[in-house]
Amino acid sequence: MTFAIHGLAVAHGIAIGRAVLVASSRVDVAHYFLDASQVANEIDRVRRGRNAVAEEIHRLQHSISLMGPKDTPHELKALLDVHLMLLQDEELIEGVKHWIKDRLYNAEWALTTQLEVIGRQFDEMEDEYLRERKSDLEQITERVLRAMQGEAAPAIPVARVARKTSQADLLLDDTVDVPLVLVAHELSPSDMLQFKQGVFAGFVTDVGGKTSHTAIVARSMDIPAVVGARTASQLIRQDDWLIIDGDAGVVIVDPSPIILAEYGFKQRQVELDRGRLSRLLNTPAVTLDGQKVELLANIEMPDDAPAAVRAGAVGVGLFRSEFLFMGRHGKLPDEEEQYRAYRQAVEGMQGLPVTIRTVDVGADKPMGSPYKEESQLNPALGLRAIRWSLADPAMFVTQLRAILRAAAHGPVHMLVPMLAHLSEIRQTLALVEQARAELKRDGLPFGPIELGAMIEIPAAALMLKTFLKYFDFLSIGTNDLIQYTLAIDRADESVAHLYDPLHPAVLRLVAETIAECNAQGKSVSVCGEMAGDVSVTRLLLGLGLRSFSMHPAQILAVKQEVLRADTSQLRGWAESVLQADDPQAFMGS
Ligand code: PEP
Ligand code: MG
Repeated sequence: MTFAIHGLAVAHGIAIGRAVLVASSRVDVAHYFLDASQVANEIDRVRRGRNAVAEEIHRLQHSISLMGPKDTPHELKALLDVHLMLLQDEELIEGVKHWIKDRLYNAEWALTTQLEVIGRQFDEMEDEYLRERKSDLEQITERVLRAMQGEAAPAIPVARVARKTSQADLLLDDTVDVPLVLVAHELSPSDMLQFKQGVFAGFVTDVGGKTSHTAIVARSMDIPAVVGARTASQLIRQDDWLIIDGDAGVVIVDPSPIILAEYGFKQRQVELDRGRLSRLLNTPAVTLDGQKVELLANIEMPDDAPAAVRAGAVGVGLFRSEFLFMGRHGKLPDEEEQYRAYRQAVEGMQGLPVTIRTVDVGADKPMGSPYKEESQLNPALGLRAIRWSLADPAMFVTQLRAILRAAAHGPVHMLVPMLAHLSEIRQTLALVEQARAELKRDGLPFGPIELGAMIEIPAAALMLKTFLKYFDFLSIGTNDLIQYTLAIDRADESVAHLYDPLHPAVLRLVAETIAECNAQGKSVSVCGEMAGDVSVTRLLLGLGLRSFSMHPAQILAVKQEVLRADTSQLRGWAESVLQADDPQAFMGS
């Protein structure tokens, strides 16, 4: 039966494929496709993993049998019997084989997929005792996964997600070449990163807001995604056919052939539009009245740099360095590792400037480690970004040294997130000086940097003169600026309807920042999601913005807006939008 689930549209495009449900706790399992020649070995790997766990259980049963009846915990004996039974369960064994043989999933992926399938059946059981056996199944799966650790088959670069566009293709070939859509309750930004190589053609999550970092990474992957779809992971079943409409924020489950045909058509339309936009690649971004506009890329990892150049970026306006720190169980990258990463980004940009933002962990970018106490009470207002860095000066200086060293290889700008206090500015500058002095002392080469601050807390936007005394440039982080101006958690889908980039208060802070920088001849850009949103490009141009930093995938669409704009005409209109009680109403005029 066809039905639709509504969520938030976060990454443009249409994906049609089969659902792969992944439990949040199991996202860190490797997901890759096997080569047909690896299938037998992979099935054997699961068998060996199961046997190892079965042996462990047998050993335990044996030691229990040696105890006297009084010392034998009855529950433990029964539990071991249940575990052994589950381990030998036909449905588990055959299901895992199916995913490996017919879908070419690697063993860990196959095992966790089958766990999801059987887990659902347990959830639906009337009998409470049987329902609770689900946790036993999870435990033995976990043990098998652990037993298999260290002998994974080599991952084949994933090229299998052929983007089939016609409905006929999809219906004819129902096996390995069908695109897959990941469905999860929640995905962390670092979980998303591990899917960057393209295993999945689309994403759906139950939670998350439009500018949550999970959504941001999905957009940077240029893969249709819907977040905040509430009950999606409960309503969708493993292997269901899904259509993800990343523009409308809709997930259609089990679509009828007519709906499939309709969306197949839309999908081709998106491809055609992309093709048309690609003609703008080498066109300079200049408005009709001759204003040059800088279109920069936001990147998460150093190896995103070449793609940014290919997309036509004239530099990196935001390298979110925190992605180097996340998903590592608290083991922070040392100076050498960071230096190599920053240098790789700098070299990847082939002489174009790279703006490296100092680490911005916390809030919805958890480190996932006990390394430092992460603020639990209200993480968005807690120890995140520069506060986190200043709380550990040695760690911060390590990063500053690495950035300064990378600056010896090409133009580097350093950007500091979440500043609000003069004391933070002074401490930051002092630590940058310290890092320079140390490098000099150690005889390590380093380069000049321009130093910038993010304007993403209203307090910062209200003390621009102070900021401009200390910094070479400013970059407006609209994602957080909106969050903190409107007191809306950007990652919380239940208040997503109140997250409004066109709120008069937000616009005023953005406009004043641009105007003050322009008046003082300091450069200013927007690096939040507003920069890549074509519906506000004209407004930002009218407010005087000439530098936009966004996901590479958005660059050409924004360029198209720039090429059609005449800033001399937009200025007056932008001013009236700014003065309006309801700016949205003025946007179309
Ligand atoms: C922002 O807040 O707008 C920004 C660019 O930083 P991040 O999204 O990483 O918080
Ligand atoms: Mg921010």
